[in-house]
Order: sequence, then structure tokens, then C-alpha cells
Amino acid sequence: MAGVKPLERAAIVAVGSELLTPSKIDTNSLFITEQLNLLGIDVTSKAVSGDDRTELAHIIRHVLGRVDLVVLSGGLGPTDDDVTREAVASVLGLPLAEDPDITTRLRARFVARGYPGPMPEINRRQAMVPAGARVIENARGSAPGLWIDHEDRVVLLLPGPPRELRPMLTELVEGSLRARSEGKPVVRRVVRVAGLIESHVDEALAPLYREWERQPIPIAATILAAFGSIELHVSAKAVPARAGEALDAAVAQVVATLGDVVYSTDGRLLEKVVGDLLVERGLHIGIAESCTGGLVTSRLTDVPGSSRYLDRAVVVYANDAKTELLGVPEALLIEHGAVSEPVALAMADGIRIRARAEVGVGVTGIAGPSGGSPEKPVGTVVIAVSTDVVSGFPGRRSAKREGGSRTVRTFRFHGEREHVKLQASNAALDMVRRQLMEKGSGGRG
Ligand code: AMP
Ligand code: MG
Repeated sequence: MAGVKPLERAAIVAVGSELLTPSKIDTNSLFITEQLNLLGIDVTSKAVSGDDRTELAHIIRHVLGRVDLVVLSGGLGPTDDDVTREAVASVLGLPLAEDPDITTRLRARFVARGYPGPMPEINRRQAMVPAGARVIENARGSAPGLWIDHEDRVVLLLPGPPRELRPMLTELVEGSLRARSEGKPVVRRVVRVAGLIESHVDEALAPLYREWERQPIPIAATILAAFGSIELHVSAKAVPARAGEALDAAVAQVVATLGDVVYSTDGRLLEKVVGDLLVERGLHIGIAESCTGGLVTSRLTDVPGSSRYLDRAVVVYANDAKTELLGVPEALLIEHGAVSEPVALAMADGIRIRARAEVGVGVTGIAGPSGGSPEKPVGTVVIAVSTDVVSGFPGRRSAKREGGSRTVRTFRFHGEREHVKLQASNAALDMVRRQLMEKGSGGRG
């Protein structure tokens, strides 16, 4: 549309008193954001309003001067607490009038659904349209959407039920909204990092952030950290091919800066990366877990096709279990304690041999809240990875062995029990990944 300012900035307003209770969450705005981003429209704010005319009018007035597009969801029903039409009409100074075509459709829908008696007159509220608004048919429900051009801005009213809103918005994104946007979508990449803390990653990348801001296609970066795993989200807004090129270059810079702590640049999770490495190298894995209670195994088996490299794993909580199922010598347990490097190594060796796998993992630790001691506080976790791998990685039970490697590390994790378990599972998977990356080079002792 020549001469009309493209839509660049949007605000979302979710309407519904239920969205202000602890039991119902506004998911529409996530979908709306995702769709608008496809067109390069940035969501600069969002709000949730109860079914309250005054409150809603106040929010609309507030955002209207700040964005090119206001998307409202919900409050288009027939009852007295559905106030979105009235609030928008009053703020924009538009009279509301009944659209007889909509009333006809509403009546037909009522009959078609086999509801008893005539349509209640109150349902005609859904046929009220602000002057000049374009009516958007709702194939899945009764409330039509409304598109209002207000000066060079757009105010869009969408029905609240997600199954009605989604197809309606998708169509607008393909059609009217696309025609009003610049056609520069926001393209994102996710870089995943293990074994570093957030502030170290941030510090290492700070020079890149500054460089990215000044580029012809600027790149925005956000860091998210959760329990031993960090995600760096980089995004660019440009025609897709150019944004893709700029992001590829940025991701390569991140990898060059951070090195092998980066385990994924293509969206894969750590368990999938480990699984793919095992498949590539034709290796199998056995896992023995104490404090993680099967979490490492559970995550590995979340990956479809994991039976190609995993055929058994054990949870060995008690000392007896470690001895009976894995052959961990009793003397070792007595001398060093269950949470110790010799025991973790014996667990890794024990499961590797018993699972007839080339890679064995042993995890033992104190998840808390009790069980800690001054020398081994809560959060102490020992992880061992033992491999018996032939160089060149031929299949399992190969006749010609050229020696494996054993790695063991003692970690101190912080946080609640479940967070200790999660961090331990991340660390274990990452140790396996690193061992596999070394490609049978012998490793450390
Ligand atoms: P309404 O259009 O306000 O009558 O909304 C109808 C129903 O859609 C509500 O009862 C909610 O279950 C659902 N709904 C409304 N708004 C949202 C939202 N922002 N996110 C998710 N569900 C919603
Ligand atoms: Mg509602």
C-alpha cells in the first residue's frame, strides 16, 4: 500500500477477567507475537485487562499512541461482560451499529447447531460493528473479528477462544497484515552452551554484542540460563535470506569465541546431540545412576530412535545395589564412600561391561536436602564416563581393542533437590559429549 506507513510496532491486549486469576493463562498473546514476528512486526508491549470497560479503555488509549497496530483478543462474546467492542468504539469515537448480515449469520448458526428456541436477542450484541470497521468472518465460532483503520494505525479485534483466533490471525498474516508490513521477518537462531555460567558467557560475548549493534543488519541477542544449560538467542530483522546470512555469521563468531562448550547451533537439545554422536560413531551407552534416579536415561530416551544406542541402564541407590548390580567392590564403598570418584568410576565401568556397551556413565551424589557433610555438602555430585573404544570407532564387541579412556569429575551444584538432579544430568550428558568428541584419542586418566 503505497503511501501508508508500514506496521512495525504492535501492542497486544488480552481481555478476560479469567486471565487475571491464578488458573488461566493468556496464551493467545504468545501465538499473536509469533505470527506478527513472521512479518517483522515487533511486539513492544502487552497487557491483560479484566472484563471492565473503563480499565480496557484506559489501556487502549495508552497503547494507541505508541504503536502502529493494536491487537485485542477476547471479550467479543454476547454477554454483558464482553466489552471489547464498546471500549474500542468509545476510545476511537466511532458509533456502533448493528450489521444485519452478521445478525443473519448468527441466527442461521443458532438454527444449524440445533439450539432450542429462537436466538436470544442478547446475541445481537455480536453483530454490533464500529462505523467503518471491516468484518472478518469467523469460521469456527459466532463472534466475527473486526479490522479498524484508525488514521495510519490498525486496531484488530479477535475472538478469545484460541481455536477461533488462530486460523483467523493466520489468514490475516497471509493477507491483509502482510500487505501492510515491510516484509522483513524476525529470524532467530538458538545457540546452546553447557558447562559455563551465564555471566561468563555474557562477558565473553560482550564485544560481539557491540559489533552486532553496528552492523548493516543489526543482530539482537538474549541470554537465557537454566540449571547448567545456557541458551543464546540471536535474531535479525531483514528479508529472510539476508537475515539468515547475518545470523550464520554471528553464530560462527559465537562458536569461535566460546569453543567446544557450544553443543548446538541448530536447535538440538543436549540429549539429541549425544544420541547423534553415538549413532555417528556406531557406539552404545550404558548408564548407572544414583542421585539422578534415572533422569539421564530418561532424557536420552526422550530422543526417538534411542534404542539404537541404549539397551540398558540401572538406578542404583543403595550401596548393596551398586555392588550387586554393578560389581562395585564393597571395600571401595567403605573406604571412599558412595559419593566418591573411585565409586563413580567403578559404576561407569560396571555398567559399561554389563551393558556390553562402549561407553559407560556413573552418576553418584547428594541431591539433598539432607545427607550432606562438611566434606561432601548437599549438591556434591561425582560423574564418571568410561569408554572402551577402538580408534576409528568400529561396531561394538570388536575383537581389536586399542584402549579406552576414563574421565571423572566432582561437581558442586546449588539449589533444590530437583535442580541438583537437573544440573547433574546436564553435566553427565555433556561429559559424554566431550568424551565422544575426543574421538577415541585416549583421553585423560
Ligand atoms: P471470550 O472471547 O472473551 O469470550 O473468550 C472465550 C474463551 O476463550 C475464554 O473463556 C478463554 O477460555 C479463551 N481465551 C480468551 N482469551 C484468551 C487468551 N488470551 N489466551 C487463552 N485463552 C483465551
Ligand atoms: Mg471473555
